[in-house]
Amino acid sequence: MKIASVIVDVPSRQTDRPFDYIIPEQWEDILKPGMRVTVPFGPRRLQGFVVGIKSQSEVERLKPIEAVLDVTPVLNEELLELGKYLTETTLCFAISAYQAMLPAAMKAKYEKEIHLIREEYRPLLPQEIQALFAGRSAIAWKEVEQAKLWRTVQKAIQQGYLEVVYQIKEKAGKKVVKHIQLAMPPQQIRQAIEAMPARAVKQKQVLTFLLSKNEAVPMQELIEQTSASYASVKSLVEKGLVVEKEIEVYRDPYEHRTFAKTKPLPLTVEQEKALSAIVKRVRANEHRVFLLYGVTGSGKTEVYMQAMEEVLRQGKEAIVLVPEISLTPQMVERFKGRFGSQVAVLHSGLSVGEKYDEWRKIHRKEVRLVVGARSAIFAPFENLGMIIIDEEHEASYKQEENPRYHARDVAIYRARLHGCPVVLGSATPSLETFARAKKGVYELLTLPKRISDNGMPDVHIVDMREELRSGNRSMFSRMLFEKLKERLHKGEQSVLFLNRRGYSTFVMCRDCGHVIRCPHCDISLTYHRAGQRLKCHYCGHEEPIMYRCPSCGSEHIRFFGTGTQKVEEELTKLLPEARVIRMDVDTTSRKGAHEQLLSKFGEGKADILLGTQMIAKGLDFPNVTLVGVLAADTMLHLPDFRASEKTFQLLTQVSGRAGRHELPGEVVIQSYTPEHYSIALAAKHDYDAFYQREMMLRKMYGYPPFYYLTLITVSHQEITKAAAVTEKIAAYLRAQLSKEAIILGPVASPIARLHDRYRYQCMIKYKREANMTSALKTIIDRYQHDAAQGDLSITIDTNPYMMM
Ligand code: ADP
Ligand code: ZN
Ligand code: ZN
Repeated sequence: MKIASVIVDVPSRQTDRPFDYIIPEQWEDILKPGMRVTVPFGPRRLQGFVVGIKSQSEVERLKPIEAVLDVTPVLNEELLELGKYLTETTLCFAISAYQAMLPAAMKAKYEKEIHLIREEYRPLLPQEIQALFAGRSAIAWKEVEQAKLWRTVQKAIQQGYLEVVYQIKEKAGKKVVKHIQLAMPPQQIRQAIEAMPARAVKQKQVLTFLLSKNEAVPMQELIEQTSASYASVKSLVEKGLVVEKEIEVYRDPYEHRTFAKTKPLPLTVEQEKALSAIVKRVRANEHRVFLLYGVTGSGKTEVYMQAMEEVLRQGKEAIVLVPEISLTPQMVERFKGRFGSQVAVLHSGLSVGEKYDEWRKIHRKEVRLVVGARSAIFAPFENLGMIIIDEEHEASYKQEENPRYHARDVAIYRARLHGCPVVLGSATPSLETFARAKKGVYELLTLPKRISDNGMPDVHIVDMREELRSGNRSMFSRMLFEKLKERLHKGEQSVLFLNRRGYSTFVMCRDCGHVIRCPHCDISLTYHRAGQRLKCHYCGHEEPIMYRCPSCGSEHIRFFGTGTQKVEEELTKLLPEARVIRMDVDTTSRKGAHEQLLSKFGEGKADILLGTQMIAKGLDFPNVTLVGVLAADTMLHLPDFRASEKTFQLLTQVSGRAGRHELPGEVVIQSYTPEHYSIALAAKHDYDAFYQREMMLRKMYGYPPFYYLTLITVSHQEITKAAAVTEKIAAYLRAQLSKEAIILGPVASPIARLHDRYRYQCMIKYKREANMTSALKTIIDRYQHDAAQGDLSITIDTNPYMMM
């Protein structure tokens, strides 16, 4: 007898281990680790992953597996192991790790149904339930809930009249198309044609057509090509001359597009140097992490593509990660143009079914390259030759739900296993990465110049305090306004960028740019309407709101922020002749809207593109010669220790949008704190100086890369409960960890109340803590029971990027 160990789909601490099931005889030979099965679990039927097969179990009286859902494993051995690594490092449940590796379409969805056990019981049911069933023998649980009859139904279940049935639904199935194929060798078919009566013209035509094709032909096509009727094809099937076959087809999101084939460009000396360093490791099967540090437009993508070609020549596979927002049609086109159908593309613009299809191309080894957002790191390749992470500093590589993994860590883990290089590319590397490159942990490759002769665009910083002083209360400075008008006259395009993150939370003086900060944390204080107070969300420092600037005495001190809609209104007033495209969450929520708006702009049907961070990256329009940043400060004052780094990166990215082609570009950055190093150094394109400066502060205040962080967030409907639990957790950690660990909090989270739940947090800064993981696990175990009641929720992030 064989036994399967199965991880079941119940994300809880108690069920976070394999359960044993008997493998029924008919599946003994086919069932393998990594396949999905359906198993009985208490009163339920659940989906699960087979993680091991053995011949003995310590458990007596095992139940058998009910169904096998896959023909081949959907998770290979390496990915099963990777799951363990994820559970260890992110403290997630194994089931969450495995589900994260698969496309959403494959995640089980359960629909609870209520079934009438026997028809004879129907008259015994209470009237209202009979009415609800209305003659049917099964109804959805949702109907019971809507009718608020669950108590009555529960009673009927106890009496044995009704039962609960869990139906597993896959979210999107495979798409199959009916094909027709010859059922005999050609010689026999020819004989059959001759033997047919003369009036069977159509049938003869069909057979002749199939002979000429020598492969299965879609039914639709066959009927169109031969103008035969469905009936004549059917009669051929009945005669046994042809067979019907369901053949799986892919929903190809790019099937209506052709991509002009591109060839590798002759490389510059720097590109050549970078490429050969990477290629050497690919050929030698050696793991190495490279940082390809090069300004926007320095030719990084060309290096990636030529390295990918080498990987293909070696008969291996490559994964390219690109931030979701940079996965623009232009980006896709570059990879499709070079690699055609050898590359699968995975991004959030695809439907669930399309993503599933792209994933299956990888799974069946029909493609050897994948370009995709974060989760593409789990592509089920078995012979990886390289992993590339473009814009490696992007926060979107960190998943903000379970499992809270960072794609960079997963990439390095997988690459080490496969003995292959990882290439991290960026114009503004994260501090963590650049620090490792400087220490020689990563190998630094540099592309210092732009490919085009224009060099970097000129960047002007406008001091918005000055504007106010000279009586300009508009959100456009005189300089930006003049330059916009100028572009309009010359028929050139402009991009206006507004960062809306951090809307109205910090307090700033419009006269001197002074922002109220925490005296202990170097983090801006957050304004709380209730109680009119300013609070630090790291350490809990609190002070009353001020009505006069503590620095200059001005009364123009206030909360900060504007929306894109307001900007658009003002633009229409000031420049009524300008055609404006607004891109933000409101205008791009419809599927395909993002792409449509961008191509409209690309075709020159608008003069100004106005948008949020979604327009900051990846866009490459030759006619854009002006980029305006309306308020560079909004992100600078978020309660996040990475605020300066993010601001620097964003301004650099945005500036990179101008003058990428023949026309020279210009950038105008409006700011209330133009002297801030993030802004001043971004304008000078001076990453190195920024790095030095920021590292000093990180060291001083004890942040990464000098310290590791772990963030624990507790939420509950009752504020006292949330605070008390966080207090206990902090106390427990203080007892468990060494004196070197710094435990901050408990303190209310920056978003102190969400969906009527109060949120508290506790942050741990540490260098080396042997007890860390076990202490965190104990906390999860301790509060699991309360959490199961649904009231309390605890999230632990071992590498937080969202401090809110
Ligand atoms: P990055 O990825 O660093 O932003 P790209 O690879 O997009 O840079 O290169 C910027 C532009 O320069 C692109 O239009 C690209 O086709 C072009 N380019 C890159 N390498 C070369 C080269 N060796 N010779 C000519 N043009 C190049
Ligand atoms: Zn503080
Ligand atoms: Zn002031």
